[in-house]
Amino acid sequence: MNGTHERQTDVLVLGGGFAGTRCAARLEKLLPKDRQITLLSSENYFVFQPLLPEVVGAALAPTHVVCPLRHLLRRTHIVRGDITAIELAPQDAAFAGTAVLAVEGLDAPVRIRADHLVVALGSVVDVTRIPGMTEHALQMKDVADALTLRHTILTRLERAAVVDDEAEQKALLTFVVVGGGFSGVETAAEIHDLVHGAMKFYPTLRDRPRKVVCVHSHQQILPELDERLGAHALKVLSKRGVEFRLGERTRAASREGVHLQSGALIPCRTIVCTVGNAPHPVLAPLADDKGRLVADGNLRALGRERVWAIGDCARIPDGRGGISPPTAQFATRQGDVAADNIAAALAGRALKEFRHKSQGQLATLGHQNAVAALGRLRVTGFLAWWMWRTIYLAKLPRFDRKLRVVLDWTLNLFFPRELTAMSTATHGDQPTIHLEAGEKLFDQGDPSTAFYLVHSGQIELTRCDKDGKVCGTDRLGPGEHFGEGSLLRSKVRTTTAVAVEPSTVLSFPARQFRALTDNFKGLRSLLEATSRRFSPADSIVPAWVPAERLQMPVSSLMTPDVVTLRPDATLRDALTSFLGRGVNSFPLTDDDFRLVGIVTSTDLFGALRRDVDLEQRIFTFCTTRVQCVSHDAPVARAIEIMRRRDVKHVVVTDANERVVGIVSIKDVLAKVLTIDLAARR
Ligand SMILES: Cc1cc2nc3c(=O)[nH]c(=O)nc-3n(C[C@H](O)[C@H](O)[C@H](O)COP(=O)(O)OP(=O)(O)OC[C@H]3O[C@@H](n4cnc5c(N)ncnc54)[C@H](O)[C@@H]3O)c2cc1C
Repeated sequence: MNGTHERQTDVLVLGGGFAGTRCAARLEKLLPKDRQITLLSSENYFVFQPLLPEVVGAALAPTHVVCPLRHLLRRTHIVRGDITAIELAPQDAAFAGTAVLAVEGLDAPVRIRADHLVVALGSVVDVTRIPGMTEHALQMKDVADALTLRHTILTRLERAAVVDDEAEQKALLTFVVVGGGFSGVETAAEIHDLVHGAMKFYPTLRDRPRKVVCVHSHQQILPELDERLGAHALKVLSKRGVEFRLGERTRAASREGVHLQSGALIPCRTIVCTVGNAPHPVLAPLADDKGRLVADGNLRALGRERVWAIGDCARIPDGRGGISPPTAQFATRQGDVAADNIAAALAGRALKEFRHKSQGQLATLGHQNAVAALGRLRVTGFLAWWMWRTIYLAKLPRFDRKLRVVLDWTLNLFFPRELTAMSTATHGDQPTIHLEAGEKLFDQGDPSTAFYLVHSGQIELTRCDKDGKVCGTDRLGPGEHFGEGSLLRSKVRTTTAVAVEPSTVLSFPARQFRALTDNFKGLRSLLEATSRRFSPADSIVPAWVPAERLQMPVSSLMTPDVVTLRPDATLRDALTSFLGRGVNSFPLTDDDFRLVGIVTSTDLFGALRRDVDLEQRIFTFCTTRVQCVSHDAPVARAIEIMRRRDVKHVVVTDANERVVGIVSIKDVLAKVLTIDLAARR
């Protein structure tokens, strides 16, 4: 349904996390009944993030660490949707601004204007900084992440129980957590407990090597705590079998595992990334150079009277000479103070200063063990674990949630952990795959499960004959596709695909591919044509052409006097050569006569149609990925290249890769076919 959706409210809280929920709850108490409070959040529930690792470890049910916002905030209008923009009002306006929201199922955005705007959008995890993390790592931010991770771990165990290949089994039983902060260490401990607890139900895996590895760039884990507690946590977890790779940075993640900066690879099939906390992208236009909203001591942001910023998305003085850390403890206190100050501003009273000192930090290590720093007190072991449970239970909102969590914890004392691998995701759908140089996507003979599109990098396809001798290779770059032939015909891979450099490919599962090609006949014919990339030349030329003719060296039919251009030639130079010499394509060569690109008449006409400046260098629009053929290769090879690439010319090079000629389809037809035509009647 089209149309605009405009709303107005007195106080608009953006975000339903620790800071936003606490602020709205306090506003409900402080503001008179005729003041309207609205809270926008992408989910309709509040997540108690410190308990997420226990969901991974199946110690708690996922619904027990969340609480519906409508249960928590009875007076507040809750609107669920994704905030896409925040438009601030002019400085002198009587309102703060407008939040623009995309709501599932509505075509037009919802716009909510507010007199007071509280920004509490938290932070996001930016995994794009490490190549391959987006494609292969799981995160730990929301309850959906925790559930997906639990599901993934259990699925890996199921797979490991049936694979014969020892290396693959080892990789399936290796779980890598990147990051040794709170969420990294707690998650690693929970994964360890889940996997080891599950072993008695997987008899074939019981004596198989398995490990949980935590990669951390510093020497001390849990840097949020002091050195002694970090060292204690390290000792406890190492003794239990968690492996720590300290002082190591992750360079990339791929299908094969985690690649470290040191060059080492940890082969694994499960990666959890807990590093890369980043500023919220919606705030980018309003934020400082670190992407956070700068707030003053009263929590007012951007020098505005009616805009407030709290929680992880803001840079807030802690009132003691420092900056507030991104923790739940600070976020909730800021929520309280922001609510007090909004009530004060509406009533014309003086504002409060935010001032808070950390009351301590706790981290659970599983197995009834934890570390705690409470003021000057340092506690470890069972007592710290008991304190951890008691404190978080007290902080968990609502009595019914507390009861459910206590029940879960009690039942865990008597029953094994839940091993049901339940997921709402579509199994086997993996849209993008990152490969490091040399990594294999599939082997010739593997079953065909997907069709691929190269997004970045280069993939080499190699076909071998029955004796294992290479009989064809091809390199594909961005925008090119592969894998269609075996899906359309043979069902098993007819080539081996390996990344030549770090590459990302989009993968379309066989099911989707078939749905498309069965119904879209035009696409099917196109893919049928492109799928014959390794068709031998003798299946292309007529059968009556003698086989030895296809074995003639390319040098015997190439045009040796090739007209080349320098890469710094302009469009004008190329057109002059084109008009003067009547040649259709010009190889671009460097000082040593080595090929750097090719420009064809199609490129030149395309540039003229686009009205490209005649003085522009042709290197900017020529084709740089040019496949050439060696002067002593058989003609058959040149025909295969032209067919595979759908081009009419192939550049010929000598043993030093210098350009020595060009061969066109016309040359081939003239010399290979017409000789025989004369002999035929
Ligand atoms: C696994 C884990 C364990 C942790 N353990 C601890 C711990 O033990 N102790 C501790 O003090 N801290 C811990 N933290 C940190 C703590 O959870 C955060 O500091 C705290 O959640 C910050 O609160 P916030 O309200 O600023 O952000 P959040 O709680 O993240 O809330 C942000 C809200 O904004 C909403 N939102 C975001 N973008 C949009 C959008 N575009 N449109 C609509 N809504 C949006 C989200 O849905 C969410 O409701 C942990 C964090 C994690 C991930």
